[in-house]
Amino acid sequence: MPTDVLILGAGPAGAALARQLALAGFKVVLTDRAAFPRSKPCGEFLSPQCTPYLVALGLPSLLADTGAFAVRGLQLGGFGAQATGHFRALPERGPHTAIGYGIRREVFDHALVQAAVAAGTQFLPRHECVDLVRAEDGRVLGAVLRAPDGQPQPHLATWTIGADGVHSRVARWLGVQRRLEWLDQFALAAHFRNVPVRDTANVQLLKGGFFAATTVDEDLFSVNLVLPRQRLRERTSPDWDAFVADALVDAPELRERLAAGERLRPWRGTGPFAYATTTCTLPGVALVGDAAGYIDPMTGEGIYFALFGARALGDALAAALHAPADAEAAMRGYRRTLAGELDARKLASKLLQRAVRRPWLVRPFVRLLQRWPGAADLLVTLTGDTIHPRDLLRPSFWKSWRSSA
Ligand SMILES: Cc1cc2nc3c(=O)[nH]c(=O)nc-3n(C[C@H](O)[C@H](O)[C@H](O)COP(=O)(O)OP(=O)(O)OC[C@H]3O[C@@H](n4cnc5c(N)ncnc54)[C@H](O)[C@@H]3O)c2cc1C
Repeated sequence: MPTDVLILGAGPAGAALARQLALAGFKVVLTDRAAFPRSKPCGEFLSPQCTPYLVALGLPSLLADTGAFAVRGLQLGGFGAQATGHFRALPERGPHTAIGYGIRREVFDHALVQAAVAAGTQFLPRHECVDLVRAEDGRVLGAVLRAPDGQPQPHLATWTIGADGVHSRVARWLGVQRRLEWLDQFALAAHFRNVPVRDTANVQLLKGGFFAATTVDEDLFSVNLVLPRQRLRERTSPDWDAFVADALVDAPELRERLAAGERLRPWRGTGPFAYATTTCTLPGVALVGDAAGYIDPMTGEGIYFALFGARALGDALAAALHAPADAEAAMRGYRRTLAGELDARKLASKLLQRAVRRPWLVRPFVRLLQRWPGAADLLVTLTGDTIHPRDLLRPSFWKSWRSSA
């Protein structure tokens, strides 16, 4: 039986898409250059709105089964001010809206891949995509995969999906990827133990960057430091602990919390990671998750974007496979759905990133949130993805918001 959908990359976007399509009865092949479980530099925070997407995949207990840690809000600090906001439970949207989760990426991503396989997906770990297969008219017909024995083999499919993350080669090969030069950042990530457990994630703003930290289970604390790449060039010592300690001077709350902490693995680095794409579909191929564009990890929404995109693309591919003559309309629907949900959120991320470069703006803003907890809750609930910026224009939203206090 020929492959209906070949998915390149088995992160949350690729694995969720694979499960949805395999459950719908399509022949799906999922590949990744890594062997699973694999880790990934990440804040390891799942926003509350991830939950309904897992439920829709028939995985309502995945987070409980994998020991995810309930996170109920966000402590935001920087430049001498601190405020805490909580995710609000909005009556008409269900109780999940009040809880996000900390979870190890190697655990979460592996569980999703296993769920895709359980639904009938054929998974090929350690198969790196090294090229696309194209027809003369440019239509993508499949991909060339390098197997563990080193032999590249073409694999044909009706649809080929680039779910290969923020540094997507598929997007580059298609010529649709553009790096956001002004957001030239890198991140360091590590796990600590012996850090006091709290049910709020922590974002500490620094000049041009931030720390993001979350408890991911009772004995594990995940820390990310994101800074302009210029700071790497100015670095005088090869010691990453000293580099991080230097940045912690401007995040005294977090420094205190980490005082007795023991780092469990070496710091891992990644970057740059701000990319946009000019389109996320072309004949025979589509992009999903970070491969379709990513801005920054400050608000911890990338996994939600991946799950949302996978759902929207899964619906479009199912329609396109059932009625090939209407494939272009289905893909147009995918592009529209993605833009409708993510454009405003990505714009908010860009504005936040610009604001962080202006401490004179951030300090009074955080102080305002400190004095006005309702505003802190609203900001945090927005970043939890259960409400959309356009909801703020609806009077019925404000009625529901007031009743959630
Ligand atoms: C520092 C940092 C912190 C973050 N913190 C958070 C957070 O706390 N919460 C949150 O929601 N999001 C966070 N994000 C964003 C989040 O990690 C991503 O948005 C999310 O992983 C996107 O999922 P994905 O499936 O699109 O890509 P990925 O998870 O990156 O998966 C892509 C997969 O493709 C595979 N691959 C790549 N190239 C190839 C190839 N050529 N052939 C085969 N396989 C390939 C990779 O091995 C990988 O498994 C963070 C990002 C960064 C950089």
